[in-house]
Amino acid sequence: MAFQRLCVIGVGLIGGSLARAARGAGVCAEVVGCGRSVANLDRALELGVIDRYEQDPVRAVAGADLVVLAVPLGGIGALLVQLAPRLAPDALVTDVGSTKGSVVAAARAALGAGCARFVPGHPIAGTEQSGVEASRADLFQDRCTILTPLAETAPHALAGIRGLWEAVGSRVVEMEPDHHDTVLAAVSHLPHLLAYGLVDWVVQRPDGVELLRYAGGGFRDFTRIASSDPVMWRDICAANRDAIVAALSGFHAHLGGLLDALRRGDGAQLEGLFRGAKAARDRWTTGGAASSGGGGPESP
Ligand code: NAP
Repeated sequence: MAFQRLCVIGVGLIGGSLARAARGAGVCAEVVGCGRSVANLDRALELGVIDRYEQDPVRAVAGADLVVLAVPLGGIGALLVQLAPRLAPDALVTDVGSTKGSVVAAARAALGAGCARFVPGHPIAGTEQSGVEASRADLFQDRCTILTPLAETAPHALAGIRGLWEAVGSRVVEMEPDHHDTVLAAVSHLPHLLAYGLVDWVVQRPDGVELLRYAGGGFRDFTRIASSDPVMWRDICAANRDAIVAALSGFHAHLGGLLDALRRGDGAQLEGLFRGAKAARDRWTTGGAASSGGGGPESP
């Protein structure tokens, strides 16, 4: 048993799934949940995701040797400030936030020298659903988890958090926080913006009701992730604004090329692009490399 008491703050899709998986893998003896709504925590108890809960984060982390922050990004800084003086001396702390630069900055501000115990993390796994009801013990199986350790992170802390994610079936990679944020802006944050934006653009049109009546599988597939939690995505956009602006600007310019080809009626250019994109996506979905680097779908 690597940990005696795991405290999960934010027992939702990711926190609940990690609690289930960690317990299933025998990583911890006890799981304490923490959140704001009693209804969600009671449901987590009923589902056997947690052993008990506290609504006060300070009480929740008492005696925990592993603390996982699994709340939307906007809540992480305040939690770290609140918890910093109240953590058990040997406690390791990690998070699952979808951006890492903002979390690293918040950790440095709140923990100071205590950053030795902190290991920022991001499991590249999830769905458009939220809450403990959607949590699954196998969510991280065969998925990638990115850790962005700080220079101050203690080797035993990094080893402990790496061990946690490997025990629940993840492949762990380490990355610089800024690089993480640039990569995820392109392949996760941008697609979510496009999905939300497309749905909004369609429904704001005067004929939006009629358009949706005839929207088929393509629209459904493309916009699935627009059913994701708006607060979570508001926080991701705020935390990773610069990288998302750069990705959206780059894609906007790329769309300009498509628009030009359409206007010119340049079927050859369009077909060439479609062929290249289809081949790259087919390789990626079957686990091959899309262009350079390893492949396989991993994002929600
Ligand atoms: P979720 O299902 O909505 O769960 C978040 C949980 O946090 C809820 O149970 C919520 O319960 C609780 N919470 C919110 N604010 C809190 C606060 N200030 N103090 C204590 N508890 C709080 O969201 P999620 O999808 O698991 O996302 C959690 C984190 O994982 C986010 O940082 C997100 O960026 C990251 N992430 C998400 C995905 C994904 O695909 N969804 C993938 C990778 C990483 P109450 O409202 O009752 O407090």
